[in-house]
Amino acid sequence: MDAPDLGNDLERVLFTPEEVQARIDELAAQVDRDYEGKDVLLVGVLNGAVMIMADLSRALSVHCRMDWMAISSYGSGTKSSGVVRILKDLSTDIAGMDVLVVEDIVDTGLTLSYLISNLRSRGPASLEVLTAFRKPEALKMPVEVKYVGFDIPSEFVVGYGLDYDQHYRNLKGVATLAPHVYS
Ligand code: 5GP
Ligand code: MG
Ligand code: MG
Repeated sequence: MDAPDLGNDLERVLFTPEEVQARIDELAAQVDRDYEGKDVLLVGVLNGAVMIMADLSRALSVHCRMDWMAISSYGSGTKSSGVVRILKDLSTDIAGMDVLVVEDIVDTGLTLSYLISNLRSRGPASLEVLTAFRKPEALKMPVEVKYVGFDIPSEFVVGYGLDYDQHYRNLKGVATLAPHVYS
């Protein structure tokens, strides 16, 4: 792959870094209100949720802990299959805890449904989901996502933790990719 050329690789910017940060601050304020007096466990889903975890957690006023899971959903390229494997489990026993799963994006919601039923079986006091981005497909799934940063169209986007072939995660904003990058 050629070196990234951000001037050319991106097609259309959906959200600037400033727009993303402003929305994360709003979500943090909501989480602060809902978890007042509690000690919330933020569960970040690697690798994509690294950016939103870092920003959200630092914008929170409530007590929080952080833990991470890595899961792989079988399926190639840009499609998710719903068959999920845990690559790295939590280090925390979540029984009786207030758990907030932090996701980068919910597309079909298949990865998330698996994750939620897995975590629910461990007996947390509460279990909610926060995602930076959500696509329309997700609305067909029974998974309830309490906090949504942005609803976006069904297009493949990169930036703010979201990758294409592991690149572009470090962009501060979010954009679609130019066709030449895929080919
Ligand atoms: P789901 O199981 O909800 O279909 O898939 C969720 C996962 O698919 C995300 O965690 C992410 O890894 C990947 N994904 C879905 N849509 C996009 C997208 O537009 N861009 C990127 N980079 N990844 C996506
Ligand atoms: Mg994810
Ligand atoms: Mg990916």
